Amino acid sequence: MTERDTHRVIPLQDLRTSALPLPTASLMPSGAVEPNGLLTDLFSRALRDLRISVTDRCNFRCSYCMPKAIFDKDYAYLPHSELLNFEEITRLARQFVAHGVQKIRLTGGEPLLRKNLEQLIAQLAALRTPEGRPLDLTLTTNGALLARKAAALKAAGLQRITVSLDGLDDAVFRAMNDVDFPVADVLAGIDAALAAGLGPIKINMVVKRGTNEHQILPMARHFRGSGMVLRLIEYMDVGATNGWRMNDVLPSREVVQRIHADMPLVQLEPSNPGETAQRWGYADAQGRHDTAAGEIGVISSVTQAFCADCNRARLSTEGQLYLCLFAEQGYDLRRLLRGNSSDADLASAIGRIWHARTDRYSALRSAAAPDTGTGARRVEMSYIGG
Ligand code: SAM
Ligand code: SF4
Ligand code: SF4
Repeated sequence: MTERDTHRVIPLQDLRTSALPLPTASLMPSGAVEPNGLLTDLFSRALRDLRISVTDRCNFRCSYCMPKAIFDKDYAYLPHSELLNFEEITRLARQFVAHGVQKIRLTGGEPLLRKNLEQLIAQLAALRTPEGRPLDLTLTTNGALLARKAAALKAAGLQRITVSLDGLDDAVFRAMNDVDFPVADVLAGIDAALAAGLGPIKINMVVKRGTNEHQILPMARHFRGSGMVLRLIEYMDVGATNGWRMNDVLPSREVVQRIHADMPLVQLEPSNPGETAQRWGYADAQGRHDTAAGEIGVISSVTQAFCADCNRARLSTEGQLYLCLFAEQGYDLRRLLRGNSSDADLASAIGRIWHARTDRYSALRSAAAPDTGTGARRVEMSYIGG
């Protein structure tokens, strides 16, 4: 061990290595669970949204996600052989779609770092829901490689894109990504995505009190009327490495008040069930929604739990199924894939796992100790994807 190692902050435990046993048939009335698109969990929540992490690596070191002190050159990322390959991802995705998934979001780490990602996009774009509809296929990126890749992503079948951007001020942005990456290059990526037709584009801004809160209004003004939807996200206590404190969270309520004081807003209806963002439209002089000015979304993961409608499952880079962003452990689907399991076995396993789901971390945290987080062991967001 080097002297440097002795001073490093080590995450409490590497949760990637532990998996939950796959539920046995006893959790369901019968062993085989045939997909019929109607799967629900123990709280009657459907399975509609699958987030697939395609890499645990990233070219940024956002302090709220992959702090440099932990994710340094000695960090043990997953070796390539551990990652699901594109055929494995597509085979699993097909079973999820048969169970009712209508939307797939590729994420990471930074998904655009995964080699030949366009090939995976083309494979997923070919999937159809039980009713014969194409999926809502999207991707979340930090935008660093977007200028180069937007056209190819669109050509492969990607429909739309979400770009993370925490501020417009170059110094603030460089400090937040912590690799001195210039904001102009992400803005160029967004322009390329627009030109390629990857809209409607969403812009994700994580708001950290004292760090980029002064960027809220410049960001809102910049994206108002652009056709893009700015979504302001409360800084969450995901993972175990970002040193989360409630004091660093700027509640969405306050974010809305600040924008409203400058550009009046009216609340809009959710566009679909399970929608994580609360929608606010820019108001016209009569106090009605000015559709040309557009809307913003606020995601209050900390101050307002939305577990009751949560229809999202997450597939990690190495094929573990997580039922909640804050889960401690996942279910090892890769073991089934690389064993002799048939598609019907895979579908049954997914069915049983979702059917037994009771996760509602945010709701329990809000009820118990809203200011503290739970201190529970959790996997990193860069591993299971945002
Ligand atoms: N690298 C890509 C990106 O940044 O867009 C995709 C993966 S990233 C984990 C997905 C989303 O999670 C990003 O929008 C990011 O801002 C958000 N995120 C990461 N850590 C977060 C935290 N602690 N609280 C809230 N959002 C977070
Ligand atoms: Fe990378 Fe995205 Fe995490 Fe930032 S939020 S470190 S860009 S994975
Ligand atoms: Fe869904 Fe878990 Fe978030 Fe609740 S805390 S909304 S169950 S991911």
